[in-house]
Amino acid sequence: MKKWDIAVIPGDGIGREVVPAAVRVLNAAAELHGGIKFAYEEFPWSCDYYLQHGVMMPDNGLDILKGFDAIFLGAVGNPAVVPDHVSLWGLLIKIRREFEQSINVRPAKLLKGLASPLKHPGEFDFMVVRENSEGEYSEIGGTIHRGDDEVAIQSAVFTRKGTERAMEYAFRLAKQRSGRVTSATKSNGIIHSMPFWDKVFKEISGRHPEVETNSVHIDALAAFFVIRPHIFDVIVASNLFGDILTDIGAAIMGSIGVAPAANINLNGKFPSMFEPVHGSAPDIVGKGIANPIGQIWTAKMMLDHLGELDTGAAVLDAIERVLESGVKTPDLGGTSSTDEVTDAVIRVLREK
Ligand code: ATP
Ligand code: MG
Repeated sequence: MKKWDIAVIPGDGIGREVVPAAVRVLNAAAELHGGIKFAYEEFPWSCDYYLQHGVMMPDNGLDILKGFDAIFLGAVGNPAVVPDHVSLWGLLIKIRREFEQSINVRPAKLLKGLASPLKHPGEFDFMVVRENSEGEYSEIGGTIHRGDDEVAIQSAVFTRKGTERAMEYAFRLAKQRSGRVTSATKSNGIIHSMPFWDKVFKEISGRHPEVETNSVHIDALAAFFVIRPHIFDVIVASNLFGDILTDIGAAIMGSIGVAPAANINLNGKFPSMFEPVHGSAPDIVGKGIANPIGQIWTAKMMLDHLGELDTGAAVLDAIERVLESGVKTPDLGGTSSTDEVTDAVIRVLREK
C-alpha cells in the first residue's frame, strides 16, 4: 500500500472549517481506492499562533515541512488582529519562496450543476500556468526625484530559466489534455521583457511540435476569458498577467469558493503546496456555511500531483454530482452547510 505523508496547515478563518472537510473527503477517496493511505500531521501555524508566539511559524518550520510529500493549506490571514503583510510573508510567501514553488496552477472549469455569471459560457475547461517567482513582482526599483517631479520605477525580471520552466510545464500539461497552449503576451507595448517571453515561447514550442500554440495579447486574452472561455486549454502567463487572469477564471466559475490552486515545486527538492484561491473569509467564519468545494478540488489537484489520477478524477466527479443534485452552500445560491456538502460528496464517492 502506498502511503503519502501530508503536512496539513488549516491556517485561519474558514481554512479551519474547509480543511477538515477536505481531509474527510481525501480519506473516503483513499478508502475507496484501497491502494493508498494518507498520514497527516497538522500544524497550527496561523494568526492565532502569531499572537501567542510572535511568529507565524517556528524557526525550524521549513525544516519540518521539507520531509513531507505535499503541503495541504487552508487560508492565511486575519487582518483584524495581524496585518496581512505580516501573516502572508511569515507563512504563505515564505513557503512558496523557500520551497521554490515557481509556478502556480489554477484550473477554471464550468462544473456541472453550476451557473456561471456569463450568459453564454460554453463548456470551458482550462488551466492557467502562472510563473510564480519573478516577472513584474520584483523588488528592483525605487522612487527618485527628477527636477521638480517624483518618479517611481519598477523593474520586471524575466530569467531564461524561470520563463522556460513555466513554459515547459505548460506544454507537458497540454499533452495530457487537449494539446493547446496559449501564451499571454504584450510585446506590442512592453518592448524588452515580452519580446523575450515570445522568443522563449517559440523555442519551447519547437521542442513540442505536436502541441498547437498561439500568442495573444493580455488585454484581448482577458476579454476572451469573458466572451469565449471555451476556446482555451492551457494558458501560460507571467506573474502579473497570470494573477489577473486567474481571478477572472475563478469569477466565471460562479464563486471564489469553488476555485482550486497549486503551488508547484519543479526541481523535486521541496514539497509542493496545495491551497484554494479563496482567503480566510472572516465575514462568514463560524457560520458553518463556507463552501468546501474549493478545498476539496484542491485536494484533487494534490492527488493528481502525487500521480493518483483515478482517485483525483473520482473526487471531481463526486463534486459535480453533488452540485448537480442541488446540494450547495449559500455562495452558490443553495441552503446547505459545509458539512452537508462534504457528507454528500463522501456519500457519492462511496456509492461508486
Ligand atoms: P484574502 O486577502 O486572503 O484573499 P479576502 O477577504 O480578500 O482574503 P476571501 O477571504 O477569499 O478574500 O473572501 C472574499 C469574499 O468571498 C468574502 O465575502 C467571503 O465570504 C467569500 N468567500 C471566500 N471563500 C468562500 C468560501 N469558501 N465559501 C463561501 N464564501 C467564500
Ligand atoms: Mg483578497
